[in-house]
Amino acid sequence: MQNYLTPNFSFAPMIPERALGSRVWDTEGREYIDLSGGIAVNALGHCHPDLVAALAEQSQKLWHISNIYTTQPAQELAKKLVENTFADKVFFCNSGAEANEAALKLARKYGRDHFGEHKTEIISCLNSFHGRTLFTVSVGGQPKYSKDYAPLPSDITHVPFNDIAALEAAVSDKTCAVIIEPIQGESGILPATQEYLQAARRLCDEHGALLILDEVQTGMGHTGKLFAYEHYGVTPDILSSAKALGCGFPIGAIMTTDKIAPTFGPGTHGSTFGGNPMACAVGSRAFDIINAPETLAHVEQQGQKLQTALRELGVKTGVFKEVRGMGLLLGCVLADKYAGKASEITAAALKHGLMVLVAGANVVRFAPSLLLNDEDMAEGLKRFEAALNEWLA
Ligand SMILES: *Cc1c(COP(=O)(O)O)cnc(C)c1O
Repeated sequence: MQNYLTPNFSFAPMIPERALGSRVWDTEGREYIDLSGGIAVNALGHCHPDLVAALAEQSQKLWHISNIYTTQPAQELAKKLVENTFADKVFFCNSGAEANEAALKLARKYGRDHFGEHKTEIISCLNSFHGRTLFTVSVGGQPKYSKDYAPLPSDITHVPFNDIAALEAAVSDKTCAVIIEPIQGESGILPATQEYLQAARRLCDEHGALLILDEVQTGMGHTGKLFAYEHYGVTPDILSSAKALGCGFPIGAIMTTDKIAPTFGPGTHGSTFGGNPMACAVGSRAFDIINAPETLAHVEQQGQKLQTALRELGVKTGVFKEVRGMGLLLGCVLADKYAGKASEITAAALKHGLMVLVAGANVVRFAPSLLLNDEDMAEGLKRFEAALNEWLA
């Protein structure tokens, strides 16, 4: 088939056509179990009837009106986010990169407004991923994503992840923000330690810097709590969300406190589509389902089952040396012998009717629907085992 798109993506050799729950069918009618969740986006599976209804209903009322006006769906979703998190105010945008871009701009401006022109340094972790805009690839700790686009925004320092001493040495009165993923997602589903996030919080407080938690991947129920920071008992100043926030309808957000929000005064930042009524109507309905105690308990329970099964499979096949992550955001770390081959395994899985992801070259990632049932999990695992065995043969 002719590809009319720029070649920055390496598309899989099939074309998905329709999907329901955790199952996807391609244009040839082949069925797949989806344990990748559209890269941690389809948190309620595909075409959840309540989300289809919310979208259909809103599509008859109002699609877009611009940020000259606010709308009921935007206020409704923001209210739910505020009432269920540390935050007092929400800014809506359309993606994770845009959310982090807003978070970083807010932190720079807050530092400048309250401390002066010297307070501009942003500290970020090596191997982190924060999006693909120029600012966010520069803050992200993977030079492969930024080096071709120099000159890059400046005054950004990278430190090794989970290294408290390195963070202590780096944070100073020049620092305006420290940005951390509670679980490094794209680079391998690697959780921050409790001590690390606590140290980051303390250092930010000591130096008047803001702690930004990038929960674009970890947020909206994937770890078994609404946001991963709740597991750590460490409260950020700014939190970024996207991916599962719209469960497949594009939306991003930052959440912050009443202390910081006024920095974004009229005209300081904006977005044409941010707060779009369609996106917010879907997000608002999705929020209620994800935030229900029974959904979060289901994530915890299914996550345990999946983790145990993957660990057993790792032992049985010798392909994995570790399974890590939280809830239904899990990574299987390849044994040294198979290092660098994660994409071979996801390709083999696809041939066996299973969608899974890589997270870096050494980790196979699972980010399925939070509503994943036993039957789909068992079938997915069966296909995964068959794929691994064929790949090993
Ligand atoms: C996916 C991701 C982003 C980027 O989100 P986009 O919607 O692709 O811009 C940023 N941060 C983290 C942690 C992510 O996983």
